[in-house]
Amino acid sequence: MKRVEGSRQLSTAERIAALRRVGVALMLELNETRLLHFIAQTACELTGAAFAAFALRPLNKEGQPLVPSEGNRFHLAAVVGVTPEQEAFFRHRPAAGEGLLAPIFHQGVPVLVADVLAFHSPSGCSAPSDLRHAAREAAEAYALGKIPTQSLRSLGIPPGHPQVRSLLGVPVLDSQGKVRGGLLSGHSEPGRFMLEDEAILVGLAAQAAVALENAELFRVAQRRSQVVERIFAAMGDGILFVDEQGSILYENAAAHQMRELLEGTPGERQAIEALLRVPAQHALRKEEVKDVLVQLVDKHGEAREYAVSASLLPLPLVPIGPLSLDHETTQLANGRMGILLIWHDVTERRLEHVEREARAEMEDRLATLQLILDELPSGEMVVEREARAEMEDRLATLQLILDELPSGVFLVYGHDARLVLVNRAALAVFGAYWPPGQPMEEFLRQNGIGIFDINGHPVAFEQLAAIRAVRRGETVPQFQSITCQPNGIALSTLVGAVALDTYRLKLSPLQTEGLPAEEPARVALVMFQDVTSLKAAERLKDEFIRIAAHELRNPLTVLRGYVQMLLFQTRRGKGPKLLPTQEEALQSIDRSTTELVEFTEDLLDVTRLQGGVWQLHPEPTDLVALVERTVKRLQTTTSKHTLSVVTTLPSLVVYADPRRIEQVLSNLIGNAIKYSPNGGPIEITLWEAMDTQEARLSVRDYGIGIPEKDQARIFGLFARASNADTYKISGTGFGLYLSHELVERHNGRIWFESKEGQGSTFFMTLPRAS
Ligand code: ADP
Repeated sequence: MKRVEGSRQLSTAERIAALRRVGVALMLELNETRLLHFIAQTACELTGAAFAAFALRPLNKEGQPLVPSEGNRFHLAAVVGVTPEQEAFFRHRPAAGEGLLAPIFHQGVPVLVADVLAFHSPSGCSAPSDLRHAAREAAEAYALGKIPTQSLRSLGIPPGHPQVRSLLGVPVLDSQGKVRGGLLSGHSEPGRFMLEDEAILVGLAAQAAVALENAELFRVAQRRSQVVERIFAAMGDGILFVDEQGSILYENAAAHQMRELLEGTPGERQAIEALLRVPAQHALRKEEVKDVLVQLVDKHGEAREYAVSASLLPLPLVPIGPLSLDHETTQLANGRMGILLIWHDVTERRLEHVEREARAEMEDRLATLQLILDELPSGEMVVEREARAEMEDRLATLQLILDELPSGVFLVYGHDARLVLVNRAALAVFGAYWPPGQPMEEFLRQNGIGIFDINGHPVAFEQLAAIRAVRRGETVPQFQSITCQPNGIALSTLVGAVALDTYRLKLSPLQTEGLPAEEPARVALVMFQDVTSLKAAERLKDEFIRIAAHELRNPLTVLRGYVQMLLFQTRRGKGPKLLPTQEEALQSIDRSTTELVEFTEDLLDVTRLQGGVWQLHPEPTDLVALVERTVKRLQTTTSKHTLSVVTTLPSLVVYADPRRIEQVLSNLIGNAIKYSPNGGPIEITLWEAMDTQEARLSVRDYGIGIPEKDQARIFGLFARASNADTYKISGTGFGLYLSHELVERHNGRIWFESKEGQGSTFFMTLPRAS
């Protein structure tokens, strides 16, 4: 007793400090377990308890207590002052809230017991159920203040529980006064706790209740914000919160994607200015920003248009980056406001709109023409008037037909390509109205329309398809270009032109009226097609194939590696011996996976090639050694064929990418094997062409050959000869396409001679290394 008194006197100042620490922790810490642990620790320090624990009623996901289903069970939320074994005991055997603990957990009343042993019922005199009943009754009577503590009944200390003689327990009550659980403390010696300790523990339990409620509120808030976030993430519109400085505090996936589309483009800075900073500044000045149109060109060179809205939101924001604001807005910035920005993609809608406008314009033109004709003085010769009316009818019909064409078409006349006719689709591509009779250069300049090649370089005016056709009488085959409209929208177009002589076209005077008479005057018919969406679809498809092939390649390589390891180990006599059928099955898996790996590699190569991301790493390479190595490798795949290398040269050095040339060799020799199903010799000959300084190579087989009708297209993508199917030889038609591309990129040539049923010889040349 003496020691206890001493410690109490000593700790008054410490107690206040400790309680303050709990208060501070409560403000800073949101982790419930850490907080409860800290409070339990403080309880031990302040009351001199040997151990302290929080036992809490389990809650469901919504934070509601799981009663009555969980009955008297309370789970351990935190404990200090016990051994790890005792802690494990508490965790596995939740506090039952019976006996001495019942008043704490059920009636919400503190219990201070000087010596637990004194509360045991006289042993052996009652059945356990009677004892339980007596304990329950005593607890209820005690809670109502009808009996003193001494009359409470203990149900005994379960084995494994820490030794406890002094017991002090207080309830943890929530803000509505309901019991959330209890804060229990104990000591192995009797008489350790005083009423003062009880008051401290009640205070600490109240702190713990606040901590629990805070943590619960935090969880609910977090869950809600997750729901909101998920909704934002799923939205197609870009949503951003920015602070007064224009720094992004939050953005959803769509906004992030939109910003990514701009990354590295020449107009990136201006675009972000128009999409983000300018609307943010307007919103800060309390000006309305609603569906303001912003046009830009993304990193794929495609024109996009967004309707931008911005509104001011009071947010507790932390400013991050600088943005030059004028005085008026700087004042507002002190008010801690945030700006909500919404980017709505209206690109498709805009294109439709341009088309509609063009149609309306054409209709206007026809109506004006009609008006002029109607106003002609009646004194004119009737015949001429009739002739004009007929011409006008024909012109209108022609215009109607042209307008229905999905491709853009226009007809220009003379050296400076003055417009004769233009259809609706063409106007939609230009994005501006081209009056008949206006020279092309003037039209493009006046409207700021630019024509670029696929690398983004402007096409010189004399090189435009229409100009080449009218000036030089050229027929220009379709080629790809980019048309940049007055509003900055860029469209991928396929353009072609044909030159026609005027006398053949028989232009009506109505169409050439006002055009200067030229000798010889040519007319050019220019056709073009907007392939923007096709290009986008193509890119998507390539991307999909690339990803699929990539994803396939790794697991396949692993599979093949394991099969080959199994086969290798079995052959070496390692591990159990396999039955012949098992070994055959493994070999068959090995062959199929090898084929699949090669197929995915080819697929990847084709997408790389078509996406223009193909890189060669040429170096001086000895073709003789490369051929011998490849032949040796491929000979191991067949016993029916005899591969031989014929050459007088010890070495033949070419300037080539060895990996790629080996790929070509494997394809040619592999095909020679595959398309000679009956086996036989395969000769690979190497020599040097003295006149051209080229290395030459041929692969000769005596297989099924290639039918003449299929020969012209055999190097095309997916091309397969008709007899391959007849012999049930499978393939994809990638190999020769890739080989052809590869050899051409090495400045070499590839060709073949073949007779159906007699075999084929494939030839290839490569430049010598100088
Ligand atoms: P694959 O063999 O996967 O079909 P390739 O692009 O390598 O694809 O070959 C294209 C087609 O050319 C083959 O399908 C086959 O019809 C024909 N071919 C290629 N090499 C030979 C050959 N040595 N003998 C007969 N036909 C051949």
